[in-house]
Amino acid sequence: MRKIYPELGYRNGELYFENVPLRKIAENTGTPVYVYSRGALEYWFNEFDSAFSDIPHTTCFAVKSNSNVHVLKVLKELGAGADTVSVGEIFRALTAGIDPKKIVFAGVGKREDELLFALEKGILMVNVESEGELRTLERVAEKLRRRAPFAIRVNPDVNPKTHPYISTGLKEAKFGITFEKAFELYRYAKESRWLEPVGIHFHIGSQITDTAVFGEAAKKVADFVKELRSIGAEIEFFDVGGGLGINYKPEEEVVPAEKLSEEITPVVKKLGCHLILEPGRRISGNAGVLITKVLYVKKRENKVFYVVDAGMNDIARPALYGAYHHIVSLTERESETVVADVVGPICETGDVIAKERELPILREGDYIAVLSAGAYGFTMASNYNSRPRPAEVLVEGENFRVIRQRETLSDLIAREF
Ligand SMILES: *Cc1c(COP(=O)(O)O)cnc(C)c1O
Repeated sequence: MRKIYPELGYRNGELYFENVPLRKIAENTGTPVYVYSRGALEYWFNEFDSAFSDIPHTTCFAVKSNSNVHVLKVLKELGAGADTVSVGEIFRALTAGIDPKKIVFAGVGKREDELLFALEKGILMVNVESEGELRTLERVAEKLRRRAPFAIRVNPDVNPKTHPYISTGLKEAKFGITFEKAFELYRYAKESRWLEPVGIHFHIGSQITDTAVFGEAAKKVADFVKELRSIGAEIEFFDVGGGLGINYKPEEEVVPAEKLSEEITPVVKKLGCHLILEPGRRISGNAGVLITKVLYVKKRENKVFYVVDAGMNDIARPALYGAYHHIVSLTERESETVVADVVGPICETGDVIAKERELPILREGDYIAVLSAGAYGFTMASNYNSRPRPAEVLVEGENFRVIRQRETLSDLIAREF
């Protein structure tokens, strides 16, 4: 096998996930289709989780990166908890059988009914992002006659050097609370009958490859935890968020999770805290691909367009962030290449999956795989242009099964009666 990513590569000229040729899935379920590999999910989860084996920890998978219940079940079996940002995600995590005591709940705009749901289910902690939210949480806890375990999401003001839309730990960002304000809130909570401060949280951004910034943030937050202890606030859980990057270009090296651990583990060990981690992209990103079919090859002067059957409604990242997704053919082609744009069928000029990319010479009816699509792929898909969302498939060894059926035309209008 000529390997591209763990569990993904060419065998006899055909692209395989584990022991299944992807063409077989495309022909069986139609396109576009998201395909995930159990083996790859296991590989990335274990690579990450084992880097922290020296310290009590829980790896809470960020559900927003891939929320399919069957994917969550695979991760649950490996020991994962869940990092959630809505009641819908808590519901999915519980449906997958994830222990509520391994679920954390973040987000800047939680509604009262969402906090109620979370407390009723007995999740590990609510990661609070404002003073108003803490008061709402207290009210909800009182209504339930049940103490609310919480952490405050602090904003450590570090620059993760990533895309501005996914930088969240700078003081200009809407996320988190300053140390000064957080200190006041912990002091308030200590006196409250209904609030139970159990942790501290930060999350500085996404697709971060410079692990030193995690260390910088962790140290700042650890100093703060010491201050909190001096006023008697017990901080058991030290939640460092997610954000470790992946290699979107197969030829580039991936930052080992060990390097993240070297930054964080010593800091948290010294505090004697239980470490919480919230990786999303890192676990699911390179465990999934999107398969799409070339509908038309359009030539104009010296430009070639591959018009494919997946659009920005199916995969939003290129249009949203100008993100790079590597593209390969499902059948290995001769070495001759052409520079082409890969575009979708949506009525928007921004509906481009790859711009001026050197690609194999493809014909109408050929299949391509958009790589690194396991994170923020399907979860960001929409019905824009009234396009039913794609199917999702899970590969396990020699087998594959549909884990979400392709939407139908009647699904599109099901709620309009
Ligand atoms: C998005 C998010 C994550 C996951 O980010 P990745 O880059 O996918 O690891 C973790 N924690 C919080 C609070 C988030 O908002």
